[in-house]
Amino acid sequence: MEKGEAMGKKREKRRIVLVPLTLHGHLTPILQLGKALSLKGFSITVFQGQFNRVNTSSPHYSGFQFLDVTGSLPESELMRLSPVEFLMKQNKMSEANFKTSIGQLLVQQGNDIACIIYDEFMSFCGATAEEYKLPSFIFTAASATHKACQVFLSKLNAKKFLMEMEDPGVQDTVVEALHPIRYKDLPTSGFGPLESFLESCRVVNKRTGSGIILNTASCLESSSLSWMQRELGIPMYALGPLHALAKAVKSSLLEEDRGCLEWLNKQKPRSVIYISLGSLGSMEIKDVLEMASGLYNSNQPFLWVIRPGSIVGSEIESLPEEVNKKVSERGYIVEWAPQNEVLGHPAVGGFWSHCGWNSILESIEEGVPFICRPFQGEQKLNAMYLESVWRIGIQLGGEVERGKVERAVKRLIVDKEGANMRRRALDLKEMIKASVRIGGSSYNAFDELVKYLKAGTE
Ligand code: UDP
Repeated sequence: MEKGEAMGKKREKRRIVLVPLTLHGHLTPILQLGKALSLKGFSITVFQGQFNRVNTSSPHYSGFQFLDVTGSLPESELMRLSPVEFLMKQNKMSEANFKTSIGQLLVQQGNDIACIIYDEFMSFCGATAEEYKLPSFIFTAASATHKACQVFLSKLNAKKFLMEMEDPGVQDTVVEALHPIRYKDLPTSGFGPLESFLESCRVVNKRTGSGIILNTASCLESSSLSWMQRELGIPMYALGPLHALAKAVKSSLLEEDRGCLEWLNKQKPRSVIYISLGSLGSMEIKDVLEMASGLYNSNQPFLWVIRPGSIVGSEIESLPEEVNKKVSERGYIVEWAPQNEVLGHPAVGGFWSHCGWNSILESIEEGVPFICRPFQGEQKLNAMYLESVWRIGIQLGGEVERGKVERAVKRLIVDKEGANMRRRALDLKEMIKASVRIGGSSYNAFDELVKYLKAGTE
C-alpha cells in the first residue's frame, strides 16, 4: 500500500471522543450524535460511568469503542448527594484519570483525535482538551433557553440574587436579556443550595471550548441561540432533534412494553392521554390516587408509565384496588413504553409530561400537545415555553386534585382549546421536519460541524 493511501485511510477514520453524563436523558441524545458522526466516517470512543451503562453489544453501536471514566461515582452517590454535589465530586475525581486515558488513546491513535465532545456537566474534560490542544465541544442535552439561563446565572451574585428575589415585583419582572423569561422562571430549583448551583454554572461556563452542540432546532429557540452566540462568541451548533439524525439509537433504561401499542390500536383517533414522568420523576401515592380518579372521570382512555420505584413508598403491584379498577376500565399501565412509537400513534391525543427536554422534542416531532406537570427548575422553564411561547401545553400546577386533572384532560383532548394547541403543535412539527431536511437549519449545522471536524484531512 502506498504511503498516501495509508494516510488517506487513517484520515478517513478520525476518532471522536464522547463523554456523556450517565443520566438517561443525557445519554440517548449524545449517543445519537455519535451514531450520526460514525455514519459520516468517524470512529467513536464513548467514556462510560458506573451506572446506566450502554448495552455495548447492540448493533447500533457496532464499531464504537467503550472505555470507562476511571474514578466515576456509583449510583449510590447520586442518591446520597444533591445533584450539584454529585457533579462537583464527579468532576474532581475524574479530571486526572481522564487526562491519563486520553494520553494513552492519543498514542494508540497516532495523535489523530478530531475532538472531545463532552456533556456540559462533565466539565473536567475541558482541562484535558486544553492540555493536549484538542478541539472540544460542550454538548447540552437541555434546551438552548436553559443553557442561556445558565450563562446568565453564572454571572450573578448568589446573595444579592436571593435578596432581590424576595421581592415579588422582581420575581415577575422579565429578564431583559432573555425575554420572555421572568426572574421566577430562571431554573434554579432542584439542584441543591443556590450558592453551589451558581458556582456549578460558573464552572460549566468557564470552559467554552470550540463550540456548543445543542439538541434543538433554531425554529424553536432562535432568540436564546442568538443571545448565547453574542454572549459567548463561539459557534452554536443547533442540530436537533438528534433523534431525527439517528432514529434507531436509544439507551433504554428498562425493557419497553410493546403490548401498549396493541392496546392503542383499539382506541379512537386522538383520544388517548399518554402519561410519563421521564426516567427520574416520582409521585406520592396520594397523587397517584387523585390522578387515577381524574383520568377516569375525564372519560378518556389513558396510557400511563409507572416505573418500578417511581411511587414513593409503594409499588405497582400493591396499588389500591380503587386505582386498579379505574385503570382496568379505561387505562393501561406499563413500566416503560416505546415512547417515540406511542407519541407517533394516531390514537394519542395528548401527553401528560414532566417536561424533560427529550420528551418535548419527541412530542413536537409528532405534533402532540401537552399537559405540563414539571418537578424542578429546568422542567418548569420548559413548561413555561410550552404554555406561553409555543402555546401547545396546559400547566397543571399546585396540588394534584381529581377535578383539576379531569378538567385539564378534557380541555386538551375534547375542547376546541386543545384542538387549537394540536394545530399549533402540528405547525411546529412541520417546521422541525423542514429544519432536518437538506438545506434546513439543523441539517446545515450538522454539515458545518462535520466539515469543521474533517478540516485539513481532505
Ligand atoms: N422514555 C421512554 N419510555 C418511557 C419513558 C421515557 O423511552 O416509558 C424516554 C423518552 O423517550 C425520553 C427519555 O426517556 O427520550 C426521557 O428523557 P427526558 O429528557 O424527557 O426526561 P428525563 O428522564 O431526563 O427527566
